[in-house]
Amino acid sequence: MTSQKPDPAQQIAALARERILILDGAMGTQIQTLGLSEEDYAGHGSGHACRHHSEHPQKGNNDLLTLTQPQAVEDIHFAFAMAGADIVETNTFSATTIAQADYGMESAVHDLNAEGARIARAAMNRATAIDGRPRFVAGAVGPTNRTASLSPDVNDPGYRAVTFDDLRLAYGQQVRGLIAGGADLILIETIFDTLNAKAAIFACFEAFEEQGNRLPLMISGTITDASGRTLSGQTPTAFWHSVSHARPFTVGLNCALGASAMRPHIAELAGVADTLICAYPNAGLPNAFGQYDEGPGDTARQVAEFAAEGLVNVVGGCCGTTPDHIAAIAEAVAPHAPRRLQGKVAA
Ligand SMILES: [Zn+2]
Repeated sequence: MTSQKPDPAQQIAALARERILILDGAMGTQIQTLGLSEEDYAGHGSGHACRHHSEHPQKGNNDLLTLTQPQAVEDIHFAFAMAGADIVETNTFSATTIAQADYGMESAVHDLNAEGARIARAAMNRATAIDGRPRFVAGAVGPTNRTASLSPDVNDPGYRAVTFDDLRLAYGQQVRGLIAGGADLILIETIFDTLNAKAAIFACFEAFEEQGNRLPLMISGTITDASGRTLSGQTPTAFWHSVSHARPFTVGLNCALGASAMRPHIAELAGVADTLICAYPNAGLPNAFGQYDEGPGDTARQVAEFAAEGLVNVVGGCCGTTPDHIAAIAEAVAPHAPRRLQGKVAA
């Protein structure tokens, strides 16, 4: 690279050789604490009116807050950055035409992603201006609410609610928006159907080729089954072999499980993958009310065990994790070296 500014991909790869990197915690948990109303979500009254029109109620459309409550979203990113996150995820988990169809907000998809990345970058710049630490924006790409390899109809196992090409096109639009807004990495996360993720990977490659710039990919599966498999039936090893062609910067697991329950699956992935390992579990399991009770110290102690065993390169939190959880995790893993690739060459 001959450019004057450091290349984020090289910068983050260099940092990852020195220490375990910290990813942020749950956006949704922080948004819940704001107690926002339908009016707040839609941007009527307080906040910015959304120029994209929909007849559907918007309460619960957390991604839309990027456009209607941008300061609140930026402040959440900033809180995670100051808690110690090196990488924050954009508020774009459901910002595809497929997922936004539930809210009639397909027309907002480009803006949700471009603004989502821009707001996260603004929050990172605010934090870096205070402490001088470099920080990175990961464009978050969620699984959508449809599965390409499973039928939602038990009476018609051959039926599919979505095709690979539907997903490729929807993810392509999302990724182009994230790149336009300045994302440094793309994080394909909460993967329960690997075929959906493969469509997202393909869409990323198409977008990168257009732009002449390949961003590092982070790929994160979700173990939803007590037998240790994804919803589409893969073990962690099978999952790795299905996505390794993407040469991702990291591969890992997030969501569905607390840290202790995730440990054997992360250990399996760390044993087969020749790239960096990323783990961001939930704050334990939800209680009867769907809330997460596990405190920062508890989560951090379990995640620190991953680090002490040399299993991980990037750690953070998924559902239920707050800035306090991220601060505790950052402190707990600091004494431990990142996982070594033992003769394997990182992507
Ligand atoms: Zn989660």
